[in-house]
Amino acid sequence: PLSTTETIEPQRICVCVRKRPFNKQEINKKEIDVVSVPGKGALLVHEPKHKVDLTKYLDNQVFHFDYSFDDTATNELVYKFTAKPLVQSIFEGGMATCFAYGQTGSGKTHTMGGDFTGKQQNSAKGIYALAAQDVFAYLHHRRYANLDLSAYVSFFEIYNGKVYDLLHKKAKLRVLEDERQQVQVVGLEEVYVTSAEEVIKMIQIGSSCRTSGQTSANANSSRSHAILQIVLRRNDRATTLHGKFSLVDLAGNEHGTDASSNDRSTLVETAKINRSLLALKECIRSLGKNSDHIPFRMSTLTKVLRDSFIGEKSRTCMIAMVSPGMTSCKYTMNTLRYADRVK
Ligand code: ADP
Ligand code: MG
Repeated sequence: PLSTTETIEPQRICVCVRKRPFNKQEINKKEIDVVSVPGKGALLVHEPKHKVDLTKYLDNQVFHFDYSFDDTATNELVYKFTAKPLVQSIFEGGMATCFAYGQTGSGKTHTMGGDFTGKQQNSAKGIYALAAQDVFAYLHHRRYANLDLSAYVSFFEIYNGKVYDLLHKKAKLRVLEDERQQVQVVGLEEVYVTSAEEVIKMIQIGSSCRTSGQTSANANSSRSHAILQIVLRRNDRATTLHGKFSLVDLAGNEHGTDASSNDRSTLVETAKINRSLLALKECIRSLGKNSDHIPFRMSTLTKVLRDSFIGEKSRTCMIAMVSPGMTSCKYTMNTLRYADRVK
Protein backbone atom coordinates (compact mmCIF):
# COMPACT_ATOMS: atom_id res chain seq x y z
CA PRO A 1 0.00 0.00 0.00
CA LEU A 2 1.04 3.56 -0.68
CA SER A 3 2.18 5.50 2.33
CA THR A 4 1.70 9.22 2.72
CA THR A 5 5.23 9.69 4.01
CA GLU A 6 6.91 8.65 0.79
CA THR A 7 8.55 11.50 -1.16
CA ILE A 8 7.67 11.84 -4.80
CA GLU A 9 10.05 12.73 -7.60
CA PRO A 10 8.12 14.66 -10.23
CA GLN A 11 8.27 13.02 -13.64
CA ARG A 12 7.64 14.57 -17.01
CA ILE A 13 4.66 12.30 -17.53
CA CYS A 14 2.98 10.34 -14.81
CA VAL A 15 0.14 7.91 -15.50
CA CYS A 16 -1.92 6.50 -12.65
CA VAL A 17 -5.10 4.51 -12.25
CA ARG A 18 -7.81 4.73 -9.62
CA LYS A 19 -10.49 2.16 -8.90
CA ARG A 20 -13.63 3.57 -7.33
CA PRO A 21 -15.66 1.66 -4.72
CA PHE A 22 -19.04 0.11 -5.49
CA ASN A 23 -22.02 2.33 -4.84
CA LYS A 24 -25.28 1.28 -3.15
CA GLN A 25 -27.11 0.45 -6.38
CA GLU A 26 -24.27 -1.77 -7.56
CA ILE A 27 -24.21 -3.59 -4.24
CA ASN A 28 -27.98 -4.06 -4.41
CA LYS A 29 -27.67 -5.42 -7.93
CA LYS A 30 -24.93 -7.76 -6.70
CA GLU A 31 -22.44 -6.44 -9.23
CA ILE A 32 -19.28 -8.53 -9.46
CA ASP A 33 -15.91 -6.92 -8.77
CA VAL A 34 -13.52 -7.62 -11.65
CA VAL A 35 -10.77 -5.14 -10.79
CA SER A 36 -7.92 -5.79 -8.36
CA VAL A 37 -5.04 -3.61 -7.31
CA PRO A 38 -2.41 -6.16 -6.30
CA GLY A 39 0.46 -3.77 -5.63
CA LYS A 40 2.18 -0.51 -6.36
CA GLY A 41 1.40 0.51 -9.90
CA ALA A 42 -0.28 -2.72 -10.96
CA LEU A 43 -3.92 -3.19 -11.83
CA LEU A 44 -5.60 -6.38 -12.85
CA VAL A 45 -8.88 -7.04 -14.65
CA HIS A 46 -9.86 -10.61 -14.07
CA GLU A 47 -12.38 -13.14 -15.22
CA PRO A 48 -15.48 -12.74 -13.10
CA LYS A 49 -16.24 -16.45 -12.97
CA HIS A 50 -12.97 -17.48 -11.43
CA LYS A 51 -11.63 -16.72 -8.04
CA VAL A 52 -8.79 -14.25 -8.23
CA ASP A 53 -5.51 -16.07 -8.30
CA LEU A 54 -2.87 -13.38 -8.34
CA THR A 55 -0.12 -15.80 -9.30
CA LYS A 56 -1.90 -17.00 -12.42
CA TYR A 57 -3.37 -14.02 -14.16
CA LEU A 58 -2.89 -13.54 -17.85
CA ASP A 59 -0.46 -10.96 -19.13
CA ASN A 60 -2.95 -9.00 -21.19
CA GLN A 61 -5.13 -8.39 -18.18
CA VAL A 62 -2.39 -6.87 -16.07
CA PHE A 63 -1.48 -3.24 -16.47
CA HIS A 64 1.41 -1.35 -14.92
CA PHE A 65 1.30 2.35 -14.19
CA ASP A 66 3.30 4.75 -12.07
CA TYR A 67 0.78 4.35 -9.27
CA SER A 68 -2.44 2.44 -8.84
CA PHE A 69 -5.03 3.33 -6.24
CA ASP A 70 -7.57 0.87 -4.88
CA ASP A 71 -11.11 1.62 -3.74
CA THR A 72 -9.95 2.62 -0.25
CA ALA A 73 -7.75 5.49 -1.47
CA THR A 74 -8.83 9.00 -0.50
CA ASN A 75 -8.64 12.05 -2.76
CA GLU A 76 -5.85 13.33 -0.52
CA LEU A 77 -3.76 10.22 -1.15
CA VAL A 78 -4.40 10.32 -4.90
CA TYR A 79 -3.52 14.02 -4.93
CA LYS A 80 -0.26 13.44 -3.11
CA PHE A 81 1.02 11.10 -5.81
CA THR A 82 -0.40 12.86 -8.87
CA ALA A 83 -0.97 16.64 -8.94
CA LYS A 84 0.96 17.66 -5.83
CA PRO A 85 4.41 16.89 -7.26
CA LEU A 86 3.60 19.23 -10.18
CA VAL A 87 2.91 22.37 -8.14
CA GLN A 88 6.56 23.35 -7.95
CA SER A 89 6.96 23.32 -11.73
CA ILE A 90 4.57 26.26 -12.23
CA PHE A 91 6.66 28.34 -9.83
CA GLU A 92 9.70 27.49 -11.88
CA GLY A 93 8.10 28.77 -15.05
CA GLY A 94 6.58 25.54 -16.31
CA MET A 95 3.13 24.40 -17.29
CA ALA A 96 1.50 21.62 -15.31
CA THR A 97 -1.55 19.59 -16.29
CA CYS A 98 -3.51 16.93 -14.52
CA PHE A 99 -6.18 14.96 -16.38
CA ALA A 100 -9.00 12.82 -15.05
CA TYR A 101 -9.83 10.28 -17.74
CA GLY A 102 -12.44 7.54 -17.82
CA GLN A 103 -15.96 6.35 -18.39
CA THR A 104 -18.91 8.39 -17.10
CA GLY A 105 -19.53 7.41 -13.49
CA SER A 106 -15.96 6.22 -12.87
CA GLY A 107 -15.10 9.06 -10.48
CA LYS A 108 -13.54 11.88 -12.53
CA THR A 109 -15.57 14.68 -10.99
CA HIS A 110 -15.35 13.13 -7.53
CA THR A 111 -11.56 13.14 -7.83
CA MET A 112 -11.15 16.61 -9.33
CA GLY A 113 -14.10 18.56 -7.93
CA GLY A 114 -14.59 16.78 -4.63
CA ASP A 115 -16.87 14.29 -3.00
CA PHE A 116 -20.64 14.54 -3.19
CA THR A 117 -22.58 14.53 0.04
CA GLY A 118 -26.21 14.39 -0.98
CA LYS A 119 -26.63 17.09 -3.60
CA GLN A 120 -23.72 19.20 -2.47
CA GLN A 121 -20.20 18.75 -3.66
CA ASN A 122 -17.53 18.94 -0.99
CA SER A 123 -15.25 21.11 -3.08
CA ALA A 124 -12.59 21.41 -0.40
CA LYS A 125 -11.71 17.74 -0.83
CA GLY A 126 -11.02 17.56 -4.55
CA ILE A 127 -7.77 17.87 -6.44
CA TYR A 128 -8.79 21.36 -7.64
CA ALA A 129 -8.92 22.63 -4.06
CA LEU A 130 -5.93 20.65 -2.80
CA ALA A 131 -3.81 22.04 -5.62
CA ALA A 132 -5.03 25.57 -4.88
CA GLN A 133 -4.01 25.18 -1.24
CA ASP A 134 -0.50 24.18 -2.23
CA VAL A 135 -0.22 26.96 -4.80
CA PHE A 136 -0.92 29.51 -2.05
CA ALA A 137 1.50 27.82 0.33
CA TYR A 138 4.23 28.17 -2.30
CA LEU A 139 3.16 31.70 -3.18
CA HIS A 140 3.70 32.81 0.41
CA HIS A 141 6.99 30.98 0.73
CA ARG A 142 10.03 33.23 0.86
CA ARG A 143 11.76 31.10 -1.77
CA TYR A 144 9.43 32.57 -4.41
CA ALA A 145 8.89 35.99 -2.80
CA ASN A 146 11.35 37.74 -5.13
CA LEU A 147 9.26 36.66 -8.14
CA ASP A 148 6.39 38.94 -7.07
CA LEU A 149 3.66 36.66 -8.37
CA SER A 150 -0.13 36.89 -8.35
CA ALA A 151 -2.58 34.04 -8.84
CA TYR A 152 -5.66 34.03 -11.06
CA VAL A 153 -8.23 31.39 -11.77
CA SER A 154 -10.30 30.57 -14.82
CA PHE A 155 -12.76 27.77 -15.34
CA PHE A 156 -14.25 26.76 -18.67
CA GLU A 157 -15.93 23.97 -20.48
CA ILE A 158 -15.35 22.57 -23.95
CA TYR A 159 -18.51 21.15 -25.42
CA ASN A 160 -18.75 20.10 -29.04
CA GLY A 161 -15.53 21.89 -29.85
CA LYS A 162 -16.76 25.20 -28.42
CA VAL A 163 -15.46 26.96 -25.31
CA TYR A 164 -17.87 28.20 -22.62
CA ASP A 165 -16.80 30.34 -19.68
CA LEU A 166 -18.05 28.76 -16.45
CA LEU A 167 -17.15 31.90 -14.49
CA HIS A 168 -19.08 34.16 -16.81
CA LYS A 169 -22.60 32.79 -17.35
CA LYS A 170 -21.39 30.21 -19.80
CA ALA A 171 -20.43 32.85 -22.35
CA LYS A 172 -19.32 31.27 -25.60
CA LEU A 173 -15.72 32.21 -26.36
CA ARG A 174 -13.51 32.14 -29.43
CA VAL A 175 -10.15 30.41 -29.62
CA LEU A 176 -7.54 32.28 -31.65
CA GLU A 177 -4.04 31.39 -32.71
CA ASP A 178 -1.60 34.14 -33.61
CA GLU A 179 1.30 34.02 -36.04
CA ARG A 180 3.59 32.79 -33.27
CA GLN A 181 1.25 29.84 -32.68
CA GLN A 182 0.22 31.31 -29.34
CA VAL A 183 -3.30 30.22 -28.57
CA GLN A 184 -5.73 32.54 -26.80
CA VAL A 185 -9.22 32.05 -25.49
CA VAL A 186 -10.57 35.51 -26.21
CA GLY A 187 -12.28 37.18 -23.27
CA LEU A 188 -11.83 34.29 -20.84
CA GLU A 189 -12.53 35.51 -17.31
CA GLU A 190 -9.42 35.37 -15.12
CA VAL A 191 -10.35 36.04 -11.51
CA TYR A 192 -7.65 37.41 -9.22
CA VAL A 193 -7.50 35.19 -6.12
CA THR A 194 -5.63 35.52 -2.84
CA SER A 195 -6.58 32.32 -1.03
CA ALA A 196 -7.61 28.71 -1.58
CA GLU A 197 -11.03 29.61 -0.16
CA GLU A 198 -11.55 32.09 -2.98
CA VAL A 199 -10.61 29.42 -5.51
CA ILE A 200 -13.10 27.01 -3.91
CA LYS A 201 -15.80 29.66 -4.27
CA MET A 202 -14.99 29.88 -8.00
CA ILE A 203 -15.07 26.08 -8.29
CA GLN A 204 -18.55 26.08 -6.78
CA ILE A 205 -19.80 28.85 -9.05
CA GLY A 206 -18.34 27.13 -12.10
CA SER A 207 -19.49 23.63 -11.17
CA SER A 208 -23.07 24.79 -10.68
CA CYS A 209 -22.87 26.22 -14.18
CA ARG A 210 -22.13 22.78 -15.60
CA THR A 211 -25.29 21.04 -16.65
CA SER A 212 -25.29 18.40 -13.97
CA GLY A 213 -22.91 17.67 -11.15
CA GLN A 214 -24.37 14.32 -10.23
CA THR A 215 -23.84 11.94 -13.07
CA SER A 216 -26.49 10.39 -15.15
CA ALA A 217 -25.35 8.78 -18.37
CA ASN A 218 -27.20 11.44 -20.34
CA ALA A 219 -26.02 14.45 -18.41
CA ASN A 220 -24.26 16.98 -20.59
CA SER A 221 -21.36 17.12 -18.18
CA SER A 222 -20.32 13.69 -19.40
CA ARG A 223 -19.91 15.06 -22.92
CA SER A 224 -17.84 18.09 -22.05
CA HIS A 225 -14.33 18.68 -20.81
CA ALA A 226 -14.07 21.02 -17.82
CA ILE A 227 -10.79 22.89 -17.32
CA LEU A 228 -9.82 24.76 -14.18
CA GLN A 229 -6.68 26.83 -14.56
CA ILE A 230 -4.60 28.40 -11.84
CA VAL A 231 -2.43 31.00 -13.50
CA LEU A 232 0.64 32.73 -12.06
CA ARG A 233 1.55 36.18 -13.38
CA ARG A 234 4.49 38.48 -12.64
CA ASN A 235 3.41 41.77 -11.06
CA ASP A 236 6.77 43.36 -11.79
CA ARG A 237 6.64 42.47 -15.48
CA ALA A 238 3.28 43.77 -16.65
CA THR A 239 1.52 40.61 -15.49
CA THR A 240 3.30 38.36 -17.97
CA LEU A 241 2.51 34.69 -17.65
CA HIS A 242 4.88 32.81 -15.34
CA GLY A 243 3.27 29.39 -14.96
CA LYS A 244 -0.06 27.66 -15.32
CA PHE A 245 -1.68 24.66 -13.71
CA SER A 246 -4.50 23.13 -15.77
CA LEU A 247 -6.73 20.62 -14.04
CA VAL A 248 -8.96 18.81 -16.49
CA ASP A 249 -12.10 16.77 -15.90
CA LEU A 250 -12.39 15.08 -19.31
CA ALA A 251 -15.54 14.03 -21.15
CA GLY A 252 -16.58 10.42 -20.58
CA ASN A 253 -14.64 8.18 -22.94
CA GLU A 254 -17.51 5.73 -23.46
CA HIS A 255 -18.97 7.94 -26.16
CA GLY A 256 -16.06 7.05 -28.35
CA THR A 257 -16.80 3.36 -28.16
CA ASP A 258 -20.51 3.67 -28.73
CA ALA A 259 -21.31 4.75 -32.26
CA SER A 260 -24.72 3.10 -32.28
CA SER A 261 -26.72 6.31 -32.24
CA ASN A 262 -28.88 7.30 -35.21
CA ASP A 263 -29.02 10.88 -34.06
CA ARG A 264 -26.74 13.01 -36.19
CA SER A 265 -25.94 15.57 -33.52
CA THR A 266 -24.99 12.79 -31.10
CA LEU A 267 -22.73 11.26 -33.71
CA VAL A 268 -21.02 14.59 -34.33
CA GLU A 269 -20.60 15.05 -30.58
CA THR A 270 -19.15 11.54 -30.25
CA ALA A 271 -16.74 12.16 -33.10
CA LYS A 272 -15.54 15.38 -31.43
CA ILE A 273 -14.92 13.65 -28.10
CA ASN A 274 -13.16 10.81 -29.84
CA ARG A 275 -10.94 13.14 -31.77
CA SER A 276 -10.06 15.29 -28.77
CA LEU A 277 -9.10 12.30 -26.63
CA LEU A 278 -7.03 10.89 -29.46
CA ALA A 279 -5.36 14.27 -29.98
CA LEU A 280 -4.68 14.52 -26.27
CA LYS A 281 -2.91 11.17 -26.25
CA GLU A 282 -0.75 12.19 -29.21
CA CYS A 283 0.14 15.56 -27.64
CA ILE A 284 1.14 14.00 -24.32
CA ARG A 285 3.26 11.49 -26.20
CA SER A 286 5.00 14.36 -28.02
CA LEU A 287 5.76 15.96 -24.68
CA GLY A 288 7.25 12.68 -23.49
CA LYS A 289 9.45 12.45 -26.56
CA ASN A 290 10.38 16.12 -26.29
CA SER A 291 9.25 16.36 -29.87
CA ASP A 292 8.93 19.61 -31.83
CA HIS A 293 5.88 18.37 -33.62
CA ILE A 294 2.83 18.67 -31.39
CA PRO A 295 -0.44 17.86 -33.18
CA PHE A 296 -2.32 20.38 -31.05
CA ARG A 297 -4.52 21.68 -33.89
CA MET A 298 -6.45 18.41 -33.99
CA SER A 299 -8.95 19.53 -31.34
CA THR A 300 -10.10 22.50 -29.30
CA LEU A 301 -8.98 20.72 -26.13
CA THR A 302 -5.38 20.37 -27.28
CA LYS A 303 -5.40 23.86 -28.84
CA VAL A 304 -6.26 25.56 -25.56
CA LEU A 305 -3.73 23.38 -23.74
CA ARG A 306 -0.99 23.90 -26.31
CA ASP A 307 1.41 25.51 -23.78
CA SER A 308 1.20 22.39 -21.66
CA PHE A 309 2.83 20.16 -24.24
CA ILE A 310 5.99 22.20 -24.72
CA GLY A 311 8.94 23.28 -22.65
CA GLU A 312 11.55 21.64 -20.50
CA LYS A 313 9.66 22.39 -17.32
CA SER A 314 6.22 21.19 -18.33
CA ARG A 315 4.77 18.24 -16.46
CA THR A 316 1.68 16.14 -17.05
CA CYS A 317 -0.19 13.66 -14.98
CA MET A 318 -3.09 11.50 -16.05
CA ILE A 319 -5.37 9.71 -13.63
CA ALA A 320 -7.33 6.97 -15.36
CA MET A 321 -10.52 6.17 -13.45
CA VAL A 322 -12.15 2.78 -13.55
CA SER A 323 -15.40 1.38 -12.23
CA PRO A 324 -15.06 -1.94 -10.40
CA GLY A 325 -18.01 -3.82 -11.86
CA MET A 326 -18.26 -6.52 -14.48
CA THR A 327 -20.85 -4.57 -16.49
CA SER A 328 -18.25 -1.82 -17.00
CA CYS A 329 -15.56 -4.27 -18.08
CA LYS A 330 -15.50 -3.20 -21.74
CA TYR A 331 -15.09 0.47 -20.81
CA THR A 332 -12.55 -0.34 -18.13
CA MET A 333 -10.39 -2.18 -20.66
CA ASN A 334 -10.66 0.76 -23.08
CA THR A 335 -9.60 3.18 -20.38
CA LEU A 336 -6.64 1.04 -19.36
CA ARG A 337 -5.46 0.55 -22.94
CA TYR A 338 -5.61 4.30 -23.56
CA ALA A 339 -3.72 5.10 -20.36
CA ASP A 340 -1.18 2.44 -21.21
CA ARG A 341 -0.37 4.18 -24.51
CA VAL A 342 -0.05 7.70 -23.18
CA LYS A 343 3.47 7.23 -21.91
P1 ADP B 1 -17.64 10.92 -13.48
O1 ADP B 1 -17.35 12.34 -13.23
O2 ADP B 1 -16.46 10.13 -13.94
O3 ADP B 1 -18.82 10.71 -14.40
P2 ADP B 1 -18.41 10.92 -10.70
O4 ADP B 1 -17.20 11.55 -10.11
O5 ADP B 1 -19.60 11.78 -10.86
O6 ADP B 1 -18.06 10.23 -12.11
O7 ADP B 1 -18.74 9.63 -9.84
C1 ADP B 1 -19.92 8.88 -10.00
C2 ADP B 1 -20.48 8.56 -8.62
O8 ADP B 1 -19.60 7.73 -7.88
C3 ADP B 1 -20.71 9.78 -7.77
O9 ADP B 1 -21.88 9.62 -7.02
C4 ADP B 1 -19.49 9.84 -6.89
O10 ADP B 1 -19.73 10.49 -5.66
C5 ADP B 1 -19.18 8.36 -6.68
N1 ADP B 1 -17.73 8.14 -6.51
C6 ADP B 1 -16.81 8.23 -7.48
N2 ADP B 1 -15.58 7.95 -7.02
C7 ADP B 1 -15.73 7.68 -5.73
C8 ADP B 1 -14.83 7.32 -4.66
N3 ADP B 1 -13.51 7.18 -4.88
N4 ADP B 1 -15.35 7.10 -3.43
C9 ADP B 1 -16.68 7.23 -3.21
N5 ADP B 1 -17.57 7.56 -4.15
C10 ADP B 1 -17.12 7.78 -5.39
MG1 MG C 1 -18.27 14.02 -14.09
